[in-house]
Amino acid sequence: MIGEVTMREGGRQGLTSGPRVSVPDRKVPHVRDLRAAVAGLRGEVRFGASLHEFTSFRIGGPADALCFPADVEDLSRLVRQAKTEKIPIFVLGGTNLLVRDRGIRGLVVSLSKLTAVRDEPDSVVYAEGGVGMPTLMKHAISRSLTGLEWAAGIPGTLGGSVVMNAGTRLGEMRQVLKAVRLVDPKGKILDVPASAIWFSYRRAKLPRGIVAGAWLQLRPGNREQIETVVKEYLHHRRDTQPLAQPSAGCVFKNPPNDAAGRLIEAAGMKGARVGDAQVSEKHANFVVNLGRARAADVIALIKQVGRAVEEQTGITLELELKIVGQP
Ligand SMILES: Cc1cc2nc3c(=O)[nH]c(=O)nc-3n(C[C@H](O)[C@H](O)[C@H](O)COP(=O)(O)OP(=O)(O)OC[C@H]3O[C@@H](n4cnc5c(N)ncnc54)[C@H](O)[C@@H]3O)c2cc1C
Repeated sequence: MIGEVTMREGGRQGLTSGPRVSVPDRKVPHVRDLRAAVAGLRGEVRFGASLHEFTSFRIGGPADALCFPADVEDLSRLVRQAKTEKIPIFVLGGTNLLVRDRGIRGLVVSLSKLTAVRDEPDSVVYAEGGVGMPTLMKHAISRSLTGLEWAAGIPGTLGGSVVMNAGTRLGEMRQVLKAVRLVDPKGKILDVPASAIWFSYRRAKLPRGIVAGAWLQLRPGNREQIETVVKEYLHHRRDTQPLAQPSAGCVFKNPPNDAAGRLIEAAGMKGARVGDAQVSEKHANFVVNLGRARAADVIALIKQVGRAVEEQTGITLELELKIVGQP
């Protein structure tokens, strides 16, 4: 069965990598403190915004305040003010997340306005944390730069993909990451070389902070060859993954020398359903939202799946999906 440790993947309020502050879990921040934390933000803020619109699963309760900083300085100021007001921050790209039905207390920050991309010498590309991986991929292709083909079809942001050490069987983020620009828990902007980051399967251990941007080391390549690899991989995904239905990608990490999807199918859980949450008929390591799935349905379903696989094989699957928000 999936143990408590695995199910607590999101950590305190999901503060897996963002700045940590001392507000106890589940405490609803005072409106006055929230307003002080976001005062003067040049970007945008939406109080009580429903997060289901901002996740690929189309699931999730409200954020006390959903913030869209205008640029890295705006983000840094927001972090400083949130620290002063003792308001927790959670950063969201939204494609590897299950946000619980009661939502996320404190500030939820989207970097969707941090979208600059620029070329640097020696085939290095700098991009801000909110740039989508598909956009970055198109940029690399337009410059005939190779090295990012593995990311074809990963829908997240660059920031989230650094934190997750996102990857596929073709490669992963650690192979191209040169350095990261972080906004630390005090709001300071600092650059961290990749050599100071510890990577493992779908995980990068960074100094605490928000990934505001990253430098990627690519190589000069042949545009046609790059496009061929990318197209083939996108076709492969379309054939094997339920891309037309809302999901958050793979639910479980692949155990060593095996595939979680194969184990789930062998345990007879393909197509299993709780409410509108269903183990995909196309790829058993995906849970899809058939329409009105709640986070509680998805959690109940993945517990059932984990239990079935453990009973059948003795293997305890570990979550790749991050479950965040108020229990
Ligand atoms: C259809 C589909 C296919 C997918 N295929 C793959 C795949 O092949 N390989 C793969 O690795 N993933 C895959 N994913 C999952 C997901 O796209 C990746 O994990 C992605 O890297 C997550 O990026 P995100 O911006 O959505 O981050 P989120 O899912 O929002 O966040 C992930 C974690 O990173 C943190 N975080 C996000 N942004 C920042 C930031 N700027 N600074 C600090 N912390 C941050 C969050 O707080 C959270 O803890 C897939 C998802 C879908 C829906």
